[in-house]
Amino acid sequence: MKVFENHSLLGYNTFKMEVVCRQFIDLESPDELKDLAAQGGLTPPYYVLGGGSNVLFTRDYEGCILHPVFQGVEIVEEDAQSVTLRVAAGTEWEDLINYCLEHHLYGLENLTGIPGLVGSAPVQNIGAYGVEVKDCILAVEGYHLPTATPFRYEAADCRFGYRTSLFKTELKGRCFITYVWFKLGKEPHFTLTYKALTDEMARQQLEPSLENVVRCVRSVRDSKLPDITEIGCAGSFFQNPVVPAVQAASLKSQIPDLVSYPAGEGVKLAAGQLIDKAGWKGYREGDAGIYPKQALVVVNYGHARPEEIKQLYEKVISDVNNKFHITLQPEVNIL
Ligand SMILES: Cc1cc2nc3c(=O)[nH]c(=O)nc-3n(C[C@H](O)[C@H](O)[C@H](O)COP(=O)(O)OP(=O)(O)OC[C@H]3O[C@@H](n4cnc5c(N)ncnc54)[C@H](O)[C@@H]3O)c2cc1C
Repeated sequence: MKVFENHSLLGYNTFKMEVVCRQFIDLESPDELKDLAAQGGLTPPYYVLGGGSNVLFTRDYEGCILHPVFQGVEIVEEDAQSVTLRVAAGTEWEDLINYCLEHHLYGLENLTGIPGLVGSAPVQNIGAYGVEVKDCILAVEGYHLPTATPFRYEAADCRFGYRTSLFKTELKGRCFITYVWFKLGKEPHFTLTYKALTDEMARQQLEPSLENVVRCVRSVRDSKLPDITEIGCAGSFFQNPVVPAVQAASLKSQIPDLVSYPAGEGVKLAAGQLIDKAGWKGYREGDAGIYPKQALVVVNYGHARPEEIKQLYEKVISDVNNKFHITLQPEVNIL
């Protein structure tokens, strides 16, 4: 375990907020968390941080950051059709995608290019291009905090939903995920329901294969999302709102080309479209802005301060509410 005091978080959040935490602990094995708890070292406030690609620090963090750095992919079961992997929380998500490519394992290919670590993937049930990670998760292992009591939740008990799970609701701030179990297919099977992806496959004249799907998802993502090595952001800042069908129908008179999808009892709208129609796409104030190619993304062009990002997203929420009577909710974890 490595412990740092008054540690800069600049390299640990993709929004590139220049904030500091009181203490920062790199955990090199899950056992170190148990040791920490046994020594009384786990006193709130603390926060589990993966790659920091889904958080916005709005100020210095006056607590302890727990950061898993233990990595690895282990095969725990295999038959003719599938492989079960147990993957350590500190493994880079893209390293798992590359492992799947190398070993010809199917299921996660549409999720290539999502920044972050494996331990965070179940938290908001990451999703992209018609696939959600829950579709491949068998179970999630970890510790309840602050006692470090072990848990294992089978997928059915993880309450996965659209960008949510047990870990983002009831267990929010009270759990440390150590391993995620994935069941992946050995036979080719693709989800090609998303138009941008199928258009890209057609444009590049590619047949569906693991490599080709990964390649096309990566090129669609590159064309729409900022390069986080250059521009700070946390991906989609807002969740797509789900509203009653009558509300969507009445909004259609205001926005004739309203994008909507059925979602349970209601209708899911595209938050990016609402932000765009409200006139915010490409807006910039100092170094804080709304990304010109995708209005869902709030960006830091350089040295935006946390309060500037906060003021901007609050203005967007308020303006969209005034214009369309819909209150956008951040998808990003705000601290
Ligand atoms: C350019 C860009 C594109 C993105 N595209 C997508 C996308 O297509 N789809 C999508 O779903 N998301 C997307 N995201 C959001 C983000 O990458 C994912 O949510 C990712 O899973 C976050 O991983 P992380 O390790 O960075 O998590 P962090 O930001 O470090 O943490 C996220 C949350 O998980 C909790 N957490 C992290 N690790 C653990 C752990 N081991 N145990 C318990 N809790 C933990 C944290 O406390 C926090 O609440 C994107 C982000 C960016 C910057």
